[in-house]
Amino acid sequence: MQESLVTHRYPRVLSIAGSDSSGGAGIQADLKTFSALGCYGMTAITALTAQNTQGVRAIHSVPVSMLRDQIDAVVEDIGVDAVKIGMLHSPEVVEAVAQALDAHGLKQVVLDPVMVAANGAKLISDEAIAVLVSELFPRALVVTPNLDEASLLLGRPLTQSDALAEAAQALLAQGAHAILLKGGHLPGHEVLDILVQAHANGQDNVIQRLHSVRISTHNLHGTGCTLSSAIAAYLALGCNLSEAVLAARTYVRGALYAGSHVRTGEGVGPLNH
Ligand code: PLP
Repeated sequence: MQESLVTHRYPRVLSIAGSDSSGGAGIQADLKTFSALGCYGMTAITALTAQNTQGVRAIHSVPVSMLRDQIDAVVEDIGVDAVKIGMLHSPEVVEAVAQALDAHGLKQVVLDPVMVAANGAKLISDEAIAVLVSELFPRALVVTPNLDEASLLLGRPLTQSDALAEAAQALLAQGAHAILLKGGHLPGHEVLDILVQAHANGQDNVIQRLHSVRISTHNLHGTGCTLSSAIAAYLALGCNLSEAVLAARTYVRGALYAGSHVRTGEGVGPLNH
């Protein structure tokens, strides 16, 4: 192409995640988010799910070599400024993703440790959880568990908002550089998320308490996917981690509010954006 015709390049974001046939979560949510935030989105699909707003009917894994081919193909040609990682269901898939991140030197990585769908369907095997922690926590800039995922990772229930900061620090100690612990599954009028970042020079961790008022809606499917994609998009746009998390929360809250009166399907509706 004639270089003189090139006037613009979009920040490039890759989602390594599962496909959600209902369009609410997974790569479908990720691509909507990247476009809405002015980024160029790409996908490496780890698995296909057959699901609607009422439940997951089937999961079909993509062969690991095909997953690696998807990542290699887009990195080698288009390039990647930030990565969002979502559903990785088996230890082999987790290991393949870790190898691909290293091979391509991909650093701005947002890891959403997807484990259970909103309707209770398991999206990761038990064996994969330990590998996820050992292989991907250290390679991610931030890990974004919700309360259920944090409970599974810590092996204990989390039921009080005043225990969240300590829980986020315990997750950080599992080898992550930063944890965004999402407290939205706790009941109450207020929602508290905790962002904790390890300090580079061995000083105290930096903790931010992010409070907001709960938005009342049934359309929650894909909220976690959208938040992690929005963080990756804002990182690709040049934000630092704190800025990216704050801006991504604002984006998700806007979508929760705007779609609160929309009806899609008979079950847990998708985030509308
Ligand atoms: N990824 C896929 C492919 C899914 O099907 C789901 C939930 O069904 C998720 C991720 C997690 O979705 P959420 O953003 O609602 O946590």
